[in-house]
Amino acid sequence: MALMTGEQYIESLRKLNTKVYMFGEKVDNWVDHPIIRPSINSVAMTYDLAQMPEYQDLMLADSNILPGKKVNRFTHLHQSTDDLIKKVKMQRLLGQKTASCFQRCVGMDAFNAVYSTTYEIDEAHGTDYHKRFIEFLKMVQENDYTVDGAMTDPKGDRGLAPHAQADPDLFLHIVEYREDGIVVRGAKAHQTGSINSHWHIIMPTIAMKEEDKDYAVAFAVPSDAEGLFMIYGRQSCDWRKMLDGNNSIDVGNKQFGGQEALVVFDDVFVPNEYVFMAGEYDFAGMLVERFAGYHRQSYGGCKTGVGDVLIGAAALAAEYNGAAKASHVKDKLIEMVHLNETMYSCGIACSCQGSQTKSGNYEIDYMLANVCKQNVTRFPYEITRLAEDIAGGLMVTMPAEIDFVSKTKVDTKAGMSIGEWTTKYFKGVNAVSTENRQRILRLIENMCLGTAAVGYRTESLHGAGSPQAQRIMISRQANMPAKISLAKIIAGIKE
Ligand code: SF4
Ligand code: FE
Repeated sequence: MALMTGEQYIESLRKLNTKVYMFGEKVDNWVDHPIIRPSINSVAMTYDLAQMPEYQDLMLADSNILPGKKVNRFTHLHQSTDDLIKKVKMQRLLGQKTASCFQRCVGMDAFNAVYSTTYEIDEAHGTDYHKRFIEFLKMVQENDYTVDGAMTDPKGDRGLAPHAQADPDLFLHIVEYREDGIVVRGAKAHQTGSINSHWHIIMPTIAMKEEDKDYAVAFAVPSDAEGLFMIYGRQSCDWRKMLDGNNSIDVGNKQFGGQEALVVFDDVFVPNEYVFMAGEYDFAGMLVERFAGYHRQSYGGCKTGVGDVLIGAAALAAEYNGAAKASHVKDKLIEMVHLNETMYSCGIACSCQGSQTKSGNYEIDYMLANVCKQNVTRFPYEITRLAEDIAGGLMVTMPAEIDFVSKTKVDTKAGMSIGEWTTKYFKGVNAVSTENRQRILRLIENMCLGTAAVGYRTESLHGAGSPQAQRIMISRQANMPAKISLAKIIAGIKE
C-alpha cells in the first residue's frame, strides 16, 4: 500500500470497530462526532503534508527496514542525527498548521524506543522480540498506520509498587501466559491520539523489580481488539465544538484539536508475534527512559510550532487593538519569541548531539532532551500569560458570537439590534471588522484556556513526564564529581 492521504486515513478509521465511550454513552460514529473530529483532522494533517512536495524532505524518510521505500517520518526509525533534527522540524511544522497536539508522535517515539530496547533484551535474554518488532513495524510502514504509544498507567497509590497496589489492575499486567501468547489486564490513562490510531504499542510506565515481573510487558495490539475500549477525556470548553453556524467563531479553532482517553484492557489476548517484552523486568526502566527521552525531544518541536501560532495571534490582537506600536507590547512579543526559540534550540541541540544505539537507530542526548522538556514545563505558561496580557480582558468577557449577529431589537431610543450594539462597542481600530477581532480573541482563548490549552499548557507540564521526572534525569546526567574536580583545579585545592 502507498502512503495515505488525509482523507484515506479518515476513511480507514471507519473500517475499525474501535469501542469509544463519552458522556456516559457508547459513540458509534466517533469519526464524525464534532468533539472528536478536530483531533482526527490534526492527525490527517500528518498525511496531507506528506503528499505535498514542498514538505516531503521533512515528512518522508528512507526506510531502513523496507529498502528502497519512502515512508512517512512518523513511522520511521531515525538513522542519523539529521533524521533526529528533521523530526523536530517536522513537529514544529505540524504545530504551526494545527495549533494543536497532532498526536502521531507518540507512536514514532515508541517505535524508536522499542526497536533499540528489544535488541538489548534479546542480547541479554536470548529472546526474539527484536525480529518480531521489525515485522510489526514493516506492516505499519507498508500500510502507513497511525500507532498510539501508550505508557502511563493509572498508578493508584504513588507510594506503592505495581504488585503492592490494593487493586492489582492499577498497572497493566499479564494475567495469563499461554503457548500462543499472553492475556493482559489493566489500563493506560491520558492516552494522546488513542482513538484515532489503527494500532497501539503498550509499554511499562516505570522501572521494575522482580516482584513486578508480570507488569514488565510491552506489545502491539489493534485498536479494536476484543476486550479493549476507550473512554474519552473531556477538555475545557469542549461543548463549544458542538456549536455550528452562527456560533462557530466561539470555538476558536474549529478545525483542529487534540484528544486523550482512558484505554482499558479487560483481558485482552495478544498473540506472541506482537509481544515485545513479557517479564524482562530488568529492561522496563530502559524502555521508559528511551521513550520519555524521545518524547521530551518532541516537545521542542510541537510546542514551538503551536507557540508560533499563539505569538502571531497576540501580535494580530495588538494590531486590532491599536496597541502594536507600544514599546511594552513589542517587548512582550520579543520575550515570547525568545522563550519559544529557546525551547526549539533545546529540541535541535539534543538531536544534534544524538548517538547510535546498539541496534543501529539513533537516540537523543538525554541531558539536553530533559533540559528541553524542563523548559517546556515553564515557558508555554509564560507565553500564554503574555498573550493574555496583550489580548486584553475582552478575550474572556466577550459575548457569544450569536450576540454579534442577533437581529433582536433592544427596546431603547436608538432601536438597534443586539448584534448592532455588540458590533458597535467591540470595534477596535476602525479599519478592522469586529468579526476579525472576535476571531483572533477566541483563538487566543482556545489556546490559553480552552480545548487547545490541554495540549499547550497542562500537557507541557505533565506530558512526557512531570517536571520532577526530568529533574531526576538531569541530576543523573549532571556528573557532579567532574564539576567539583574542575572547581578544585582552578581554586588550587589539593585534597
Ligand atoms: Fe506530538 Fe506534541 Fe502531541 Fe506529544 S504533545 S503527541 S509530541 S504533538
Ligand atoms: Fe504529549
